[in-house]
Amino acid sequence: IRPIPLLARLYSTEASLQNEDSTSVLKDDKGFKGHDMLAPFTAGWQSSDLHPLVIEKSQGSYVYDSNGRKYLDSLAGLWCTALGGNEPRLVAAAVAQLNTLPFYHSFWNRTTKPSLDLAKELLETFTASKMAKVFFTNSGSEANDTQVKLVWYYNNALGRPNKKKFIARAKSYHGSTLIAASLSGLPALHQKFDLPAPFVLHTDCPHYWRFHLPGETEEEFSTRLANNLEELILKEGPETIAAFIAEPVMGAGGVITPPATYFEKIQAVVKKYDILFIADEVICAFGRLGTMFGCDKYNIKPDLVSVAKALSSAYMPIGAVLVSPKVSDVIYSQSNKLGTFSHGFTYSGHPVSCAVAAEALKIYKERNIAEQVQNIAPRFQDGLKAFSDSPIIGEIRGTGLILGTEFTDNKSPNDPFPSEWGIGAYFGAQCEKHGMLVRVAGDNIMMSPPFIITPEEVDELISIYGKALKATEERVE
Ligand code: PLP
Repeated sequence: IRPIPLLARLYSTEASLQNEDSTSVLKDDKGFKGHDMLAPFTAGWQSSDLHPLVIEKSQGSYVYDSNGRKYLDSLAGLWCTALGGNEPRLVAAAVAQLNTLPFYHSFWNRTTKPSLDLAKELLETFTASKMAKVFFTNSGSEANDTQVKLVWYYNNALGRPNKKKFIARAKSYHGSTLIAASLSGLPALHQKFDLPAPFVLHTDCPHYWRFHLPGETEEEFSTRLANNLEELILKEGPETIAAFIAEPVMGAGGVITPPATYFEKIQAVVKKYDILFIADEVICAFGRLGTMFGCDKYNIKPDLVSVAKALSSAYMPIGAVLVSPKVSDVIYSQSNKLGTFSHGFTYSGHPVSCAVAAEALKIYKERNIAEQVQNIAPRFQDGLKAFSDSPIIGEIRGTGLILGTEFTDNKSPNDPFPSEWGIGAYFGAQCEKHGMLVRVAGDNIMMSPPFIITPEEVDELISIYGKALKATEERVE
């Protein structure tokens, strides 16, 4: 294996490829260099000395940059543009609402019809367990922050002021506000920010390939993780643990699907100690896994649910918390004694976002979107998993329209490539060069295309992946 010089800093523009391969596919002459944005999740060098990739237009499964270059958008924006880049019905819903009532709030028992309609529709759509109320936010992070406040208010109302701790999982991603970042189990979200907050505990990441013991089956692995969770609860004192939060399939942590019997065993432990179960469905909801919700797929019966992203197919910012009667009844009945549930955002239930989301839900139903994903998923999953034999791939994993690739040496979870080789970054840049955008996090590659991706587009995605993989293999061997 020969080292790849300085490729770790190359992803997101192809500047260093330009030096190495004399390609200049992403050269941008429109003066965006050294722009004025403090960009999210971007290191200083990317925003100062290199051109950003400026996306100007979207159509179906594709986006176009400011030079007119076309890319297959294999991550659907940030796992969110479920109906692709130009669904006219969503645009029409937004315009119609903007022309009628561009804004009114939902504080103090005033509200708007689109928010009432959407709440009703969401409650009807979620059937894994009984839900009674919906709280609207602008994002997934705000939804998860709201979860913490709901749960604390609930336990205060029940006279259990010590039952306040949250258990989340290593490698989870729940957002980047202070509390959502604390719940997340990714060190980069904690380091330099003095996080996580002290009430958050983390338990095992359920990644079988990486963490199972020699000879341990998936079921045994799940049993061990459930036992570890129970030990943690007992060590802390069950009377101090308020809630457990989990993504049905972990997204940003590297697309990690739960091992067999995992959620069944975890739910039994959580229930035993009167701990609320929060399903973070921000990525999984509305069809991504081939079921309407991740909870449907894994038989999860949550007390609280967070949704966002595909809720509006990302055309307008919106998130929501679904609240079971167990929690909402307490909040309603106790609020006269405890005082107002003083939490909300100016744009909670924004009428334009709600109108667009209601239209998205209508489209998902009309087009049987979950079934559509189920039908296309084998082509996507099998086509990509066929590359599993590559000597530089440790694991390809996924379900429905979500998939992760992890590059490792010797096919082993314990032999990562040196980070300065920038294997993931090189693969990502090769995809970009061949006309596809993927998510790169170290040597993890993630994809979650729009639900409307066609069979031909899946074939194109697989073909570009294959070319990028071949180029990456050649660099390594
Ligand atoms: N929860 C999960 C599972 C996510 O994947 C994300 C975002 O990627 C969030 C929460 C945070 O959502 P937002 O970026 O809308 O705040």
